[in-house]
Amino acid sequence: MPELPEVETVVRTLENRINGRIINEVIVRWPKIIDNIPVDIFEKKLRGQKFISFGRRGKFLLFELSNYMLIAHLRMEGKFYVYAEETEPDKHSHVIFRLDKGELHFNDVRKFGRLYLYDKGSRYSCLDKLGKEPWDDTLTAEYLKEYCRGKSTAIKSQLLDQSMIAGIGNIYANEICFDVRIDPEHPACYISRDKWDEIIRSTRKILEEAIRAGGTTIRSYTSSLGVTGLFQQELYVQSREKETCKICGETIRKKFVNGRGTYFCPKCQVEKPLRVAITGNIGTGKSTVSGLFREEGYPVISCDEVNRELLEKETTRKHLAGLFDCDLSQVNKAYIRERIYADEKMKKKVEEYLHSCIWNEVEQFYQTNPTVEMIVTEVPLLFETDWYRHFDCNVLVVSDKKEIVQRLKNDRHMSEEEIEKILQNQMPDDAKISMADAIIKNEGSIEILQKNVKRKITEIIRTLPQE
Ligand SMILES: [Zn+2]
Repeated sequence: MPELPEVETVVRTLENRINGRIINEVIVRWPKIIDNIPVDIFEKKLRGQKFISFGRRGKFLLFELSNYMLIAHLRMEGKFYVYAEETEPDKHSHVIFRLDKGELHFNDVRKFGRLYLYDKGSRYSCLDKLGKEPWDDTLTAEYLKEYCRGKSTAIKSQLLDQSMIAGIGNIYANEICFDVRIDPEHPACYISRDKWDEIIRSTRKILEEAIRAGGTTIRSYTSSLGVTGLFQQELYVQSREKETCKICGETIRKKFVNGRGTYFCPKCQVEKPLRVAITGNIGTGKSTVSGLFREEGYPVISCDEVNRELLEKETTRKHLAGLFDCDLSQVNKAYIRERIYADEKMKKKVEEYLHSCIWNEVEQFYQTNPTVEMIVTEVPLLFETDWYRHFDCNVLVVSDKKEIVQRLKNDRHMSEEEIEKILQNQMPDDAKISMADAIIKNEGSIEILQKNVKRKITEIIRTLPQE
């Protein structure tokens, strides 16, 4: 089936061959091919029309004529043939365009292809459901994250959804998944924004390279216009079952994901532990929740603890002493707070340094736990910093204000005034809820919380690919 690069190649080839040609006559031999208007009107309207410009939207070809927009969807095996002179149509030529010089035939062995004709400038309803073009500036990690919210669909299948991104078909979806080293069955709702950025970059890169190579020529799609695509030589997984992976030497395998042939490298695209972050405002009980994840057998790392340990390390304190231009013995928590309190520049420097140290520790923690289903990181300021972009699943713990106040009074011996001041200054729950992938309510007893956590874990694990 032709995908974006093949359609783009067809469009550019036709532009070369028939731009400026005038349609003298149209003969439709298989009426069903004309989708949105009666065949006799299609034939009548096209008479005398000139080809002005050529474009593409998703996998649709757009021909701008003098008064109309002719749109073609090749689907499985639709093809265009251009002939220099009048040519006897074969049995699969369903629409013949007689031009002022030569002929254009629409040929389709399986008859799934469709042609549409619209008044120029009107709404082209056949394109209504198409999502963003791969090079659209508004195709961002944030858009994709939002689009896939709650969708446990396999990422490979999600990439085929034309209303999310238009133009990607089976071949390129397989190649993109390999390029970003993701298991094709990984659930679309649990992909970090960082990973989505990678997927966007990879999609653009692969499609651009394929367009440059004239598309991919494989069994189900061969060019009719004398242009043979060469991208099949650049494929890493597609149609390479039982061949060796060009990166790691492992044998490429084929499986079916939602009925579509899916090629992948079991070593390069192995499912990694899901990166789960737990956060929550003060007093919501996020540490209790992390503890419950640990009780269920999942490794947990706390950024607060890592930070505390870092500040005891001599290398960290030496670096900070250098930044502050002070004595090593002076560096402690209180001193750091004092030095960054009114100095925004210094604050940024110190935070950048500490955050990169903490992130290194977190990454190392991931390396030491490669086979669990998920790893939990407790991050107090997840949404206040850009850390929320790094995790596949951001879990927010929320709690009733009365219970929060009670907890802070009992556990931390804070006064109502102090508590109120802190609550006022933090990012409100509503803003965090809109960015979170999962919410855990901490209300009532520890038993209820335990149940909530277990339910959430089951919900997450259930979406992950099964061996
Ligand atoms: Zn490999």
